[in-house]
Formats: sequence, C-alpha cells, structure tokens
Amino acid sequence: MDYSFSSEGVLKKVLGYGYQIEPAALNMLEALGDEKVIDVLDSFTDKFPDTIVIEGKQIEAILEKTPSKEAAETNKFALRGKITQIYDGSGLIQRCPKCNRWIIDDFCMVHSDVEGIWDLRIKARFDTGTGRRTLIFKKDITEKSGGITLEEAKKLGEAATLARIKEAMVNRNFKVAGIELSGGNFLVKDISEV
Ligand SMILES: [Zn+2]
Repeated sequence: MDYSFSSEGVLKKVLGYGYQIEPAALNMLEALGDEKVIDVLDSFTDKFPDTIVIEGKQIEAILEKTPSKEAAETNKFALRGKITQIYDGSGLIQRCPKCNRWIIDDFCMVHSDVEGIWDLRIKARFDTGTGRRTLIFKKDITEKSGGITLEEAKKLGEAATLARIKEAMVNRNFKVAGIELSGGNFLVKDISEV
C-alpha cells in the first residue's frame, strides 16, 4: 500500500502552490485523485484569492461547484452597466511569489521579505441600473479592457497605470460576462464597450 507515499505527494503539491493546509483539509485532498487535486488547487486563485491556509470548508465549496456542469452554469453571469469606480489596489500591483497575496514594497505579511511578482488587476464598481456589483479583472482581461499591457505598466509605474485604466473605463458602459464568485464578487472573463 503506497498510501504514505501518495499523501506526501499531495502535501508537496499544496506547498508547491505556496499554500499551507489544515490536517482535515489535507485528508480531503488525499481522498481525491491526483488530477482532481490539481483542479482544486487551481480553483483557489479564482475562488479564494487570499487563502494562505487551506481549510476543509473551502475544499467542500470548490468540490460542490466544479463537478456539476449545472452548478457551473448557474454561476455564469452576463450584465450590462456602467463602471462607476475603480477601487484602490487596482492597476499595477505586486504579489508575493509564495502565497499570491497582494503585497507592497516586496514585503508579505506572512512571508516577510520576498521578491514581489508584478501583476495587473482591477476591482471595479459596476452599476447595472438596478444594483451595484463588484467586478474583478485578472491580468489578461485588465490588459484587454484597460488598454495597457503588463510590460507597459511596469514602465509607466503604478500611478500612471491606474490613471490610464480609469481613463479607459470609468463612466463608460460595458457588457460583461464571467463567473460569480462565492464571495459575491464577479470575475470578468469577457468585456466589451457598448
Ligand atoms: Zn506571502
């Protein structure tokens, strides 16, 4: 029986992703196949971007949603509205290479001094006329909708990057589509100006 070998493998994968994990959550992961473990770990960046220590209930939440196509459908959204605000922490940011957390000046609250990795993201308020939503944009979609690439942003610096993104987006009307996240935020996968 190679159970101990396999469980060591799972823990290694978790640590390789830069996470720590509760023992109960590790047991849950070990019960899944190797491929499924990777799926679950990949889902953390989208669903629980601020995770440091993986908890059992987070794995439950991910497992409830990923296997069923029907559930995945209900998480999809398409909305029209106006971006009314770009929140602080948007634009050119640094992430900790170990935990992916947003950091400032190469310092992570958890991992102390690190060499930060540059990334682009947007958190925006979206007014649909009947309500307000919070939209989250990862790098690819930020580059597309903000009209700026990560390389350009690194040359421009944080303030000018944010100004460029605001110029491109605030008070404009968009059609957006993507996935509703468990925290009530909306992860944008596609956007076009209308
Ligand atoms: Zn960190």
